[in-house]
Amino acid sequence: MHHPSEVALVSIIVPVLNEEQAVGIFLDAVTPILKSTGMRYELVFVDDGSTDNTSVLLRVAHQRMPEVKLVSLSRNFGKEAALTAGIAHASGDAIIPIDVDLQDPPEVIPALLSKWREGFEIVFAARANRDSDSYLKRKTAGWFYQLMGQISETSLPENVGDFRLMDRAAVNALLSFPERKRVMKVLMSAVGFRTATVYYERQARSAGRTKFRPLRLWSLALDAIVASSTLPLRLWTYFGGLVALGALTYGAFIVVRTLLQGSVVPGYASLMSVVLFLGGLQFLSLGILGEYVGRIAIEVRGRPLYIVGDTVGFNGPAQQNSVPNDWKSPSDRA
Ligand code: UDP
Ligand code: MG
Repeated sequence: MHHPSEVALVSIIVPVLNEEQAVGIFLDAVTPILKSTGMRYELVFVDDGSTDNTSVLLRVAHQRMPEVKLVSLSRNFGKEAALTAGIAHASGDAIIPIDVDLQDPPEVIPALLSKWREGFEIVFAARANRDSDSYLKRKTAGWFYQLMGQISETSLPENVGDFRLMDRAAVNALLSFPERKRVMKVLMSAVGFRTATVYYERQARSAGRTKFRPLRLWSLALDAIVASSTLPLRLWTYFGGLVALGALTYGAFIVVRTLLQGSVVPGYASLMSVVLFLGGLQFLSLGILGEYVGRIAIEVRGRPLYIVGDTVGFNGPAQQNSVPNDWKSPSDRA
């Protein structure tokens, strides 16, 4: 927690990818709200490899408002990595990631802050409803949470995105997680701490268009499942056991029947369907194994999560630590 004698600093983290239309609207909306809180604040924008004028607009904004800071990534690393970069550069006592398109309404920020002052280290902003999503997105999200609830060790808070408040203590814990495939939601529920929830209505996008395609959401969901559970791997042990048991029983049945009735040649169709069925299952289980092995490869390679091109508005040398704070390679640790 911050020192009681000084005014606390809140860091707003804003990942942006080609958002030249949304940046101005966002600044106009969020600045008066932050001013009204009476806290010191900084707006840490992370340019996630935009190819439009987003970065220029932010540099200009910094001239007018020194609270606007910019971390410019060398290319597009994805929202999760951009958020990590922003969080690593922020120096606030409380940190709030927020989307630039005003789908996370800044009006909720004071409510998050007041819960924080009550002593909660993590304050989730949860969507009261999913009306602004398509029917399909709502349905699939529902299934996803149901599945995660069944298989994961820590529970995932439902209907929360990246919009939340994190105390410095939680942020430091978060930055100490070495994993490269970062699903913020999963990491957040893994760090623990006292949590509270504030509800809000999710708005439609202020300007510009969504950067997420359905395929991206599917791969995020896969990441989340693989990152929080090894149940999909274990499942095959049980299934294999069941199939083996079935095969044994059937084998015994054939032996007994041959002894009683003499040899009969059974049908080709049943043989073929069993072979194909088991073959298919083997590919499926190999695929699931592959999901985990692929992620192990990514973790072992240990590439930086993001690479900073340059920064605007930060004092001191730019933080080039693209690896979370205390991540060490296994050889360093020895
Ligand atoms: N974003 C990003 N990098 C990406 C994709 C998105 O920094 O690769 C940012 C984007 O600029 C926005 C936020 O993440 O501020 C949420 O993106 P978007 O609104 O497109 O997602 P949706 O709300 O449709 O899920
Ligand atoms: Mg959006």
